[in-house]
Amino acid sequence: MLGNKSLKINCGVIGIYGLPRAAQYAYWGMYALQHRGAESAGIITSDENQFYFHRGMGEVSTVFSDAEQISSLKGHIAVGHNRYSTTGASDPTNIQPLFTTYWGGELGIAHNGNVTNYLSLRKKLEASGALFRTQTDTEVFLHLIANRREKEFVPRLAGALKQVKGAYSLVIITSDSLYAIRDPYGIRPLCLGKLRNGYVVASESCALDIMKAKYVRDIKPGEIMVIDRDGCRIADQLKPRHPAMCIFEFVYFARPDSKIFDENVDKLRRRLGRRLAWESPAEADVVISVPDSSNTAALGYSEASGIKFEIGLIRNHYVGRTFILPDQKIRDIDALIKYNPVRGVIEGRDIVVVDDSIVRGTTSKKIISILRSAGAKKIHYRVSSPPIISPCFYGVDIPTFSELIAHHYSVDEIKKKIGVDSLAYLSIEGLLSVSKRPADHFCTACFSRNYPVPGDAVPNSRKMLKNPE
Ligand code: SF4
Repeated sequence: MLGNKSLKINCGVIGIYGLPRAAQYAYWGMYALQHRGAESAGIITSDENQFYFHRGMGEVSTVFSDAEQISSLKGHIAVGHNRYSTTGASDPTNIQPLFTTYWGGELGIAHNGNVTNYLSLRKKLEASGALFRTQTDTEVFLHLIANRREKEFVPRLAGALKQVKGAYSLVIITSDSLYAIRDPYGIRPLCLGKLRNGYVVASESCALDIMKAKYVRDIKPGEIMVIDRDGCRIADQLKPRHPAMCIFEFVYFARPDSKIFDENVDKLRRRLGRRLAWESPAEADVVISVPDSSNTAALGYSEASGIKFEIGLIRNHYVGRTFILPDQKIRDIDALIKYNPVRGVIEGRDIVVVDDSIVRGTTSKKIISILRSAGAKKIHYRVSSPPIISPCFYGVDIPTFSELIAHHYSVDEIKKKIGVDSLAYLSIEGLLSVSKRPADHFCTACFSRNYPVPGDAVPNSRKMLKNPE
């Protein structure tokens, strides 16, 4: 794995209602959401008489490797899930969507986010006799729903959700309905689309585009939406909290061609680059990006600075697991497998390198070494987000305090460590200034240690911590 470019979000979800062969649409949507999780994939469908499943380890193309696997999933309702693990190991037991049969019927669930009171909920549930079959935080939703005694499903679901803290964008399939839910803080994205007489729910709007569905709107924080034979409607509303949408979705995770939190990611990411150029100008011959997630911010930097943008690094998209024999070790080989410099762009020039984030600093250091070997004169490193000083408890695999370079070192020290002529990060104010939403509607905890949602292991919420360790 390569430092900052190995940051992972913990999943993508998709739900389909009212389209014949719903599994086919879910499968396409999961292709579009592949960047949100590639460890395992699965689809559950219903034709209102029976449920159908297919789940497996690997990317969507591996799990669904022949047409029969899709065509055997009958029905007009489907939920799908791409997983990257943040709670529970990456093994077949934990593949989503999860499914259960209980006193109230059957249901399947797919989850993006992280339940922050998972450990205490699990302990309590186990003490009262619950048998967990997975190590995922998602399973607590199933047990909590099964433990409720309300006759109707929606109050049962709402009663269960009221016990959960943390980040959850959920799609739930029952025999005859699809449910879409976003936690009351709205931490992870979830949007609604329309296709002919059917509906699509997805983590990002790029999943709607692939099937030519029309974006309708975001599922609002705390909303429990049901889609069934009577159409699409709000079934219940959880008590709203102060919004805390993940700002890092804009910086890095979401695809630039997506709309999330009701904003166009490409436009917003360009504004990050422009603001960065305004805050931290540099004298250089060319602006390059660390591909692919920094491309758009680098274009913004180029536009605002007037320094031309060129492709200075080529990313190899076909990197899987690599093996290096001990006697054949070449310096920076793991970075070289992934990035190759374009000598004609780099050689003899002063360059601005725009990156979206620095986590451990190891990748940045290797990229700088590659650029120096390709003949770069001066290197000005510009980062389109603030220093990451704290882990994430809401569904992003940001490592522990001890692994974060900015937790230990000042900007000047990091500059020396990675070996650049100058280093500058975007300020938190700059980051928050590019959205049309009020600044306090975002979670910035990994940059500020200001955790908006409490939980078992979450440091004091909405307070700046002096000594997090
Ligand atoms: S801590 Fe960072 S990555 Fe996690 S939800 Fe907040 S802004 Fe997003």
